[in-house]
Amino acid sequence: MQKSNKAILKDIKAVLEFYQALGFERLPLKTIQDTGYKIQDTKSCTMNHASCIVHRASPLNSGQKETALKELRDEIGDCQRCKLSKGRKNLVFGEGSVDAEIMFIGEGPGEEEDIQGRPFVGKAGQLLTSLITKMGFKREDVYIGNIVKCRPSFNRDPEDDEINACLPFIEKQVEIISPKVIVSLGRISTQTLIGMKTPISKIRGHFHTFNDIPLMPTFHPAYLLRNPKDKWLVWEDAQKVLERLNK
Ligand code: SF4
Repeated sequence: MQKSNKAILKDIKAVLEFYQALGFERLPLKTIQDTGYKIQDTKSCTMNHASCIVHRASPLNSGQKETALKELRDEIGDCQRCKLSKGRKNLVFGEGSVDAEIMFIGEGPGEEEDIQGRPFVGKAGQLLTSLITKMGFKREDVYIGNIVKCRPSFNRDPEDDEINACLPFIEKQVEIISPKVIVSLGRISTQTLIGMKTPISKIRGHFHTFNDIPLMPTFHPAYLLRNPKDKWLVWEDAQKVLERLNK
């Protein structure tokens, strides 16, 4: 069914407000024309778009996914598998919809996340939530996790032994949720998931795969807080993700 003019205007308004929030004075029109920005609810869509068929053919139903995630959380327990357990206040398992089409994977919890036991709830998290909203989703529609589930002290990078100890858990979460697209946030997440040491600035914006799932690397929201001029690059990456979902 064709969108009404009112709905189209609402979509355009949402995009303009996003650019305004990012501090743009001029609109990068070429980007929008190139990508044909549109939002589609593949969960409820009854048409035979490829993405909707794949979604409906998901191997686990929602209840089975919830059970599997709970079992995984139980298996992790009061994890002492690496030295990050020593400094944590709370283990940050991850959160969101078990039927998420998009899974955002960051590096590890920061101070606020460690306190609350939830991923991306500090300033960088607010930026991520804003991006998710402007992509046409609610935060609770997507799934958000990290490579390591406990906070590295002083927000240092997680070390290889810590990543290796924790990686099987996020791998399992990806397998259970089976998203249509993964967005890896920042260098650590991207390099870990695609197994390449290429700088994030060179690798972002191009699809890779993780266990046969398309993966879009982009900058970490914490980087964007320090380098707001690069927000438009993340929005370009987000539009490629939306394009992929609408295929
Ligand atoms: S970071 Fe992962 S492996 Fe290390 S203690 Fe926390 S949950 Fe366990």
